[in-house]
Amino acid sequence: MNYKFKLKPLPYAYDALEPFIDAKTMEIHHGKHLQAYVDNLNAALEKYPELQNWPLEKLLGNLEQLPEDIRAAVRNNGGGVYNHDLFFAYMAPGGKPLNDGALKAAIESEWGSVDEFLAQMKAAGLSVFGSGWAWLVSDANGKLSIFKTPNQDTPIPANLHPVLNLDVWEHAYYLLRQNRRAEYIDNWFNVINWEKAEECYAASM
Ligand code: MN
Repeated sequence: MNYKFKLKPLPYAYDALEPFIDAKTMEIHHGKHLQAYVDNLNAALEKYPELQNWPLEKLLGNLEQLPEDIRAAVRNNGGGVYNHDLFFAYMAPGGKPLNDGALKAAIESEWGSVDEFLAQMKAAGLSVFGSGWAWLVSDANGKLSIFKTPNQDTPIPANLHPVLNLDVWEHAYYLLRQNRRAEYIDNWFNVINWEKAEECYAASM
């Protein structure tokens, strides 16, 4: 994926995650917030043809090589595109179960149980001050950890591979849940697409 970036369609309908995540939130999150990140990323790259064939991961992994006048825009908006494409793919109507396999075994090895991992993921999401993300990431050896990023930063500069992410920006939950981030996270547990997480974990090694 490189310039000119496009809004990736949601792989399900706006109301498909009800009642856990409401249709209006999904419509604005995808159709307005993500669209804005896509548009702003394209605008930043418009006058730099030499960067237009760079895949998004390359841009985000080499921010210090970018012209200074677009570095922040690519970091924030490119990160926004990258993070949200994953976030929406990491959800599915009713969720998809975590199967017996490499990811489940690695989670149990790291945290003792999937429930304990989820408790730690929730704690990470709650501890992000302001806007940002909680992540389950893997290093090149398949070692899992929980990671946090502020704003729209990604795990790419830390050489960590996304396995699952959780958007804790207020725009992800405020319409339905107001300030109740914990309630939003509890509901998000019901729509996790673990099959996508398993795919990402397998691809990370
Ligand atoms: Mn978001």
